[in-house]
Amino acid sequence: MSIPISTLGTPRIGPRRELKTALEAHWAGKQDEAALLSTAAQLRASNWARQSLLGVTHIPSNDFSLYDQVLDMSAVVGAIPSQYGWEGGPVPLSTYFAMARGRQGHGDQGHEGCGHGGHGGGGIPALEMTKWFDTNYHYMVPEFRRGQAFELASAKPVDEFKEAAALGFHTHPVLIGPVTYLLLGKSKDTDLDPLALLPGLLPVYAEILRKLAAAGADWVQFDEPCLVLDLDERTRKALRQAYDALSSTVSDLKIMVAAYFGGLGDNLELALGLPSAGLHLDLVRAPAQLRQAVERASADKVLSLGVIDGRNVWRSDLTALLDRIEPAVADLGTHRVVLAPSCSLLHVPYDIEAESAFDPELRSWLAFAAQKIGELKTLSTALVDGRRAVSDELARSDAAAAARRVSTRIHDTGVAARMAELTPAMGERQHPYPLRRRAQEWLGLPHFPTTTIGSFPQTGAVRKARADHAKGWIDDADYQRFLRQETAQAIAWQEEIGLDVLVHGEFERNDMVQYFGEQLAGYAFTQHGWVQSYGSRCVRPPIIYGDVSRPQAMTVDWARFAQSLTKRPVKGMLTGPVTMLQWSFVRDDLAREQVCRQIALALRDEVGDLEQAGIRIIQIDEPAIREGLPLRHAEKEAYLTWAVACFRLAASGVDDATQIHTHMCYSEFNDIIHAVGGLDADVISIETARSRMELLDAFRAYRYPNEIGPGVYDIHSPRCPTVAEMRDLLARARERIAGDQLWVNPDCGLKTRSWDEVRPALVNMVAAARILREETVSARVATPA
Ligand code: GLN
Ligand code: ZN
Repeated sequence: MSIPISTLGTPRIGPRRELKTALEAHWAGKQDEAALLSTAAQLRASNWARQSLLGVTHIPSNDFSLYDQVLDMSAVVGAIPSQYGWEGGPVPLSTYFAMARGRQGHGDQGHEGCGHGGHGGGGIPALEMTKWFDTNYHYMVPEFRRGQAFELASAKPVDEFKEAAALGFHTHPVLIGPVTYLLLGKSKDTDLDPLALLPGLLPVYAEILRKLAAAGADWVQFDEPCLVLDLDERTRKALRQAYDALSSTVSDLKIMVAAYFGGLGDNLELALGLPSAGLHLDLVRAPAQLRQAVERASADKVLSLGVIDGRNVWRSDLTALLDRIEPAVADLGTHRVVLAPSCSLLHVPYDIEAESAFDPELRSWLAFAAQKIGELKTLSTALVDGRRAVSDELARSDAAAAARRVSTRIHDTGVAARMAELTPAMGERQHPYPLRRRAQEWLGLPHFPTTTIGSFPQTGAVRKARADHAKGWIDDADYQRFLRQETAQAIAWQEEIGLDVLVHGEFERNDMVQYFGEQLAGYAFTQHGWVQSYGSRCVRPPIIYGDVSRPQAMTVDWARFAQSLTKRPVKGMLTGPVTMLQWSFVRDDLAREQVCRQIALALRDEVGDLEQAGIRIIQIDEPAIREGLPLRHAEKEAYLTWAVACFRLAASGVDDATQIHTHMCYSEFNDIIHAVGGLDADVISIETARSRMELLDAFRAYRYPNEIGPGVYDIHSPRCPTVAEMRDLLARARERIAGDQLWVNPDCGLKTRSWDEVRPALVNMVAAARILREETVSARVATPA
């Protein structure tokens, strides 16, 4: 007798990103479909074998995906919008990839930039893409239409179950639950409510269950993370209806409903009441719900205890965990328990063993997917055979936990002292915005000042020089010379085309978080710690392991150099504290809010040094503020309050006459506009080109008082916007925002574009601003006050 171990899902990109390589080769036409599918099959086989070897008993299948598991589900149920030209039958791979990436008209117009689907003229756009709950994983949004019909159009779940069986692995297929699947979808028919499609969808799910049962499956996992959200009565009803239908479809096929990314809260009763054989609980985000669930679960319900953090990279304190779960397991009986990570291991890297160059002390505190499975195995053995059976493992875990608690690598008394001295005044500028505005007049900017968001094209030459430098092929001096040359050219060109506020171009930066993290104390970087962001895109989030501080200035030399080349103001460029936090794995022994404050303090020093160096316009990018929003409404305000406070701590140490900018790029401001106002940046630039300025409605309704640069150039598209187009967009902006509040800039940084695309676009942008200035002057002459 042992306690089963489940993983809910595993990383699938490959330990060396083999899937990325194969996908990109296939998309580039260098590898045929068969070669891609063979790589995919190998990755699945090794995932199953690895888990089996590590002791996983409930090995998942259908957790693999060539692009995204939500897109897979759309293919399975035949929810394929008409523009992709599908005419029934098995969904061809080319159709699947068209939904993922668009069908190109000309040039590669796939997804890029800061996480948005991009498409230019011609071709068929991809499905919309957005973040999977509060993770950095992106899924393809299902698109439904009026009269949407569903049919089993891909047998992937059944095929992969059989594929595993043929290799000797009995697996638990994983499917996105029907209610979560529908809730994630959207329709262009605005009056269509996705939940109304449930009755039509359930028969397809039932058909899959019958096929899986016939193939020999005994458990199926339905992921219903919607259970951790605020749900209305309709959604609750839909959940009951769905699982009433599905649990009676095949009598001996058991269903595990998986709820993760938070506590069930007021949905606990509902979740426990669903007629499923099992319920998975996230006991990392919501440890307290274990007691309640044990007390209220019916006597035959299996509980899957998500006790190992599937969202973070820290080693668990196994003794402390056992103290917590032993009583619950005793109450339930081992036959009613499964041990699992809090959520699928998709969100952590494969194996810490791959990090041969990693600092050994830090490494001893970490657990990636492979190590997490080892922890589950230790817990399982301890719960059945007693702690003595795993005394070595527990001793190692105790030692790591104890060492980490007192390590001087983590606890910096200097940081603690500064944190203790924080005052509310440090979050306030000297004077309110109207006075600052006057103090900033010395900058001498024209009406409708023009600027860019920071980065200029990261050309092949720039990337090659960086790689060659990293490999030691070119020395520091040569590399610096190269970067100076790029920067100088960028400054000269910006002057030449008449931009008002210049940027240095960010050629020295590999990534907007990594560049800063590498220079801050308390941050560590892996070599192979990739996690999937979307499709073939992976990120290697830095690990914040200790108190964060700034040993020395990070950007001042580059800013000073750029400013020395021109009389026009050069904008200093920093990544904000919330974004630095949000795009990292964060230590779990200190509240996120406190970690963010430490980063903010380090950035505040940088802002001060820039100002001292004569940089009087400083931009602090916060593209990630919105995605940090908690899933539950009741927790949102508390988050926004500290996020805003951290930004202000970073930004407020400067003189009134120094202008602070911020930048955000996404398409939803309504629910956070008060927080955006609360940042009190002198100028904010946002992404508005594709929404044709409709985003500004939120700013108008809020009566946003400071200056705004609504993007007039959609940088996700290779298309060059014309002067007339941008002038028209600015006219639309002026209908919403007073002219003297407006700046003129692109939607986002230009690093993903080529100079051939950027040059004419920015020339046109400057021309559009000039026309606007002339029109304003003549309007004033025509209608004297
Ligand atoms: N300053 C950054 C850049 O221009 C901003 C990037 C972003 O918003 N994601 O690249
Ligand atoms: Zn941006």
